[in-house]
Amino acid sequence: MECQVEELRQQLEKQTLINQELQNHNNDLERRLQKTEKLLQELQSHYHDLEFPDQRISNEGGLVVRKSRAAVMAPEPIPEDQQEIMKTKVEKTVSETSLIVKAIQKNDFLSRLDDEQITMMVELLVAINFKPGNDVIKEGTEGDSMYIVAAGELLVSQADRNLRTLTCGDVFGELAILYNCKRTATVKAKTVVRLWFMERQMYRTIMTNKSKKKREQLMGFLKTSQTLKALNDSQLSKIIDSMEEVKYQNNDVIVREGAEGNTFYIILKGEVKVTKKLNGQEKQIRKMGKGEHFGELALIREILRTATCTAVGPVTCFSIDKEVFEETIPIEHLELHDDISSKVLEEPDAPEKTSPSSYLRLKDLIPVLYQEGRYQGEPVTLGVGGFGRVELVTTLHHGKYFAMKRVSKKHIVAKRQEEHVLFEKRILKAIKSDFIVRLHAAFKDTRYIYMIMEFCVGGEIWTKLKEVGRFDEPIAVFCTACVVEAYAYLHKKGIMYRDLKPENLMLDAKGYVKLVDFGFAKELVHGDRTYSFCGTPEYMAPEIIQNQGHDFAADFWSLGILVYELLVGSPPFSSSEPAKIYPKILDGVLKFPPYMGEGAKSLISKLCRPRPGQRLGNTKNGIKDVRHHRWFSSMNWHKLRVGQVEAPTIRLIRKGPCYINFDRFPFDQALADEEFSGWDKNL
Ligand code: ATP
Ligand code: MG
Repeated sequence: MECQVEELRQQLEKQTLINQELQNHNNDLERRLQKTEKLLQELQSHYHDLEFPDQRISNEGGLVVRKSRAAVMAPEPIPEDQQEIMKTKVEKTVSETSLIVKAIQKNDFLSRLDDEQITMMVELLVAINFKPGNDVIKEGTEGDSMYIVAAGELLVSQADRNLRTLTCGDVFGELAILYNCKRTATVKAKTVVRLWFMERQMYRTIMTNKSKKKREQLMGFLKTSQTLKALNDSQLSKIIDSMEEVKYQNNDVIVREGAEGNTFYIILKGEVKVTKKLNGQEKQIRKMGKGEHFGELALIREILRTATCTAVGPVTCFSIDKEVFEETIPIEHLELHDDISSKVLEEPDAPEKTSPSSYLRLKDLIPVLYQEGRYQGEPVTLGVGGFGRVELVTTLHHGKYFAMKRVSKKHIVAKRQEEHVLFEKRILKAIKSDFIVRLHAAFKDTRYIYMIMEFCVGGEIWTKLKEVGRFDEPIAVFCTACVVEAYAYLHKKGIMYRDLKPENLMLDAKGYVKLVDFGFAKELVHGDRTYSFCGTPEYMAPEIIQNQGHDFAADFWSLGILVYELLVGSPPFSSSEPAKIYPKILDGVLKFPPYMGEGAKSLISKLCRPRPGQRLGNTKNGIKDVRHHRWFSSMNWHKLRVGQVEAPTIRLIRKGPCYINFDRFPFDQALADEEFSGWDKNL
């Protein structure tokens, strides 16, 4: 009996041990499973971030819009004097050149420069030395140069926290060569340091001049083509906008004899040999070089190639396909036409006699005060922008509300924005469209410029979008359609808007959308281009970032970005760091969330084409092509223009005190300094 008990006990012990082991094993498996699940979750969230940057799912399951308003880049005048700049070329050794080129190639932004631009940059970089402990750039200050480390070590810190060390071949501060931006970190020399540096003015001048020269050269090349020589400069310019650069290696066949041809090429660099099969043997007919073109018949007729063109060494061509060419230049119908009757748009809403401009005087305007809440009794501020505040005012006699934009003259002068303010005033004064905010009067005193505008009581589209996360399709279609009408009006008058974003769209009492803020608008002759770097990073077209010169097509790019942001809640190319936005725009990869409809995807893709000449709105039928896109199939454009479409946006507008649709701002008691230089004497 005892023996049996002992045996049982032993068996029990053994079983317990086995159980324990199994339990351990189980725990281990469980842990591993949890780890794998966590990893999977992380991967999924990374994937989601990659797919839809800057969107997080909120508690309610809706999408959260980007939190902060987009920053703006004001245009700066570009110095013209190329001669002076070329005098500053600095000789460099082979090893110095190779270090600089390598540094440029591994930098996200600079690596997109083309070979010639890189060569210019290499030639014009200037050396500068720093002693240990010296600051090269300081957090919070305004930057105007970029640097490449030639020798030594530097320390990067942010708010006194050390971030990383920079060594030979590293690039820093490169955003400053694009625009006037605040430094986000301090860079201090750790050792004796030698740097290569370049200032923004220099960079922009060379890029701009390069682009201008390249255009002129291409124009010359195109004019040697029999098929194209009848076209005028503005049409040739459009073709250039649609062309793309293609690179070939030695022996690459560019076109093959007997194959169907549908592309036209101009040789920008390198040599191309032309061969033909004669009695079964490939025979060379001739060689072509820079500036020569081939395949032009393919643009106007269906043809089979009559010869083979092969690259001899590396070749760069500029090319355009038949389909794109046909979209760009209607052979039979060369002028851009628009069917809208400008009369409908230009009809003033009231006879001139009773228009507010006839009775408004600055001294009669009184501030409207908050009636409740923490700012009770203080004047209502509707918005604060980069250049000033917009306050709500009224008149004693008429009781009408107005939005009064007040900008400090001193600030304008400091930021060299005199011309832009004068222009904004002049343009707004001349504009009479139901889709653009009306300017009733402008005044000035020693400190401020005042613009008295129609009050858009419904508030900003930006605020509404923030409230609901993203718009449903009917609302997005309606808002975009209003912008299309505003664009049609402006572009027809030769004005580019250049600052489209939800922050600059306002709702009137009927829920109709109006463009406000003409600070970046510009007059441009159709066919010309402008080279200023300005706008809001998220909405900037690739040609602006690359200093290639831009025109009305840039507005259509930002229209595509707007449609995306309205439907998704944040723009397609975004990041909390502006430096990361630009490479995304240049890559141009659009990722659409699964809930976006096919029509919207198609419209956005067509508006956000990298080549401006291929963009919807800028092709042969102009803005008509945008109106006719299937995403707008429910829109009655005529009714919209005469204000007879019922606005779906009306349900976004809150009822209550007249400032209820606006964020609240504390009153700014500080008085701006006086300014007497007289730049505004003709205002
Ligand atoms: P930024 O250039 O930084 O965008 P800004 O100083 O040029 O700003 P605006 O964009 O013209 O100023 O206006 C700033 C804000 O004031 C707008 O975003 C809007 O909230 C409000 N606002 C402007 N105009 C009106 C208006 N007519 N009616 C109601 N609110 C307005
Ligand atoms: Mg604005």
